[in-house]
Amino acid sequence: MALIVQKFGGTSVGSVERIANVAERVARARAAGDDLVVVVSAMSGETNRLLALGRDVAAEQAPHPRELDALVATGEQVASALLAIALEARGVPALSLLAHQIRLRTDAAHTKARIRTIDDRPLREVLAAGRVAVVAGFQGVDEEGNITTLGRGGSDTTAVALAAALGADVCEIYTDVDGVYTTDPRICPSAQKVPKISYEEMLELASLGAKVLQIRSVEMAMKHGVVVHVRTSFTDAEGTVVTKEDESLEAIVVAGVALDRDVAKVTIRGVSDEPGLAATLFEALADAHVVVDMIIQNVSEDDRTDLTFTVSRGDVETARPIAERALGEKKRGEVVVDTRPAKVSIVGLGMRTHAGVAAKMFRLLAAAGINIEAISTSEIKVSCLIAEARGEDAVRALHEGFGLGAPR
Ligand code: ADP
Ligand code: ASP
Ligand code: MG
Repeated sequence: MALIVQKFGGTSVGSVERIANVAERVARARAAGDDLVVVVSAMSGETNRLLALGRDVAAEQAPHPRELDALVATGEQVASALLAIALEARGVPALSLLAHQIRLRTDAAHTKARIRTIDDRPLREVLAAGRVAVVAGFQGVDEEGNITTLGRGGSDTTAVALAAALGADVCEIYTDVDGVYTTDPRICPSAQKVPKISYEEMLELASLGAKVLQIRSVEMAMKHGVVVHVRTSFTDAEGTVVTKEDESLEAIVVAGVALDRDVAKVTIRGVSDEPGLAATLFEALADAHVVVDMIIQNVSEDDRTDLTFTVSRGDVETARPIAERALGEKKRGEVVVDTRPAKVSIVGLGMRTHAGVAAKMFRLLAAAGINIEAISTSEIKVSCLIAEARGEDAVRALHEGFGLGAPR
């Protein structure tokens, strides 16, 4: 008998029929004798609908993050209750559980909280009583008892965290594609399903825009050695197993191509180039929970320099005043924000041992007439900042150029 955590994304629970489909799948696994913890996302479109409502009532103001969390967490509450009802109706004993009921504690960073602790006892009691635990994903509770949420796509992280806390045999992520592809199949129809991928590659792909798994869920799976199986709830096809790297994976130079449109570029022009500038600026951004991605500092002239960094678009209005403060009292220089770039990246373990991969990427982009605005690299990835309007062309050019369209 196995202990399995299954997570169903918004599309899988998007309608009454789909919830029924999930209930039947869960019932089959239960009939096979497995213990099941099922994590659900809000019904598809619900989180966006709730966020839009929040924005509408706030008029011109930004809605308060605490209240936004209280608002959006309802989406998962609805889905978990509906699935528990559907299971009970099929004769499968089930219990819906919210974050406070499983004592899923997070920090207080509303809208992007991090999980601190989970008490596995309430879940074990539910399982021991022969019930399926249906947990509302995405939500947590801070030390003060406030409802928090884990960032968009956060139900993946709930699922992996529960799998780690319970020592589950596998964490199955059911979504609307049947696995992890060489690139987003919506952009590139020739994308291929990858049977197996390493945590490192998946982490890069997720960080670089492949939203099939939330980044933190992959970090957590890697840290705790949770085997993640990404698959579809619509068929029984085997999906993609995310696991430790091995020799077969190391041989692949480029495993995937990712496109991240959630990029904004902040440039501080003509700032005084003095020791401590970068430290003060990036400390202030970190204190405001703004994650900075690429950083470029130009050669300075007359003790003044340009400093560019990228953040996600949702962080622009937090980053802008911090960047303006870096200009100092006299406000010499200016802050320019560009919310129209995108980042295209290639990822693969084999890059560690193969030369010329980055050069080939630049050549392929040049051949497609795509200008590169900034570059960043790590051991297993190369990323280029380009115009968003050319993002999908860039993905297709790289996917084809690196021969990813052919079956492996
Ligand atoms: P869910 O609601 O189930 O969490 P998401 O929409 O968050 O689903 O993630 C699944 C989507 O991720 C797919 O529909 C696909 O468009 C997108 N995606 C992006 N990159 C990839 C990739 N490399 N492989 C598979 N899917 C990808
Ligand atoms: N419902 C949340 C979102 O749309 C969490 C999730 O789906 O994982 O981001
Ligand atoms: Mg998701």
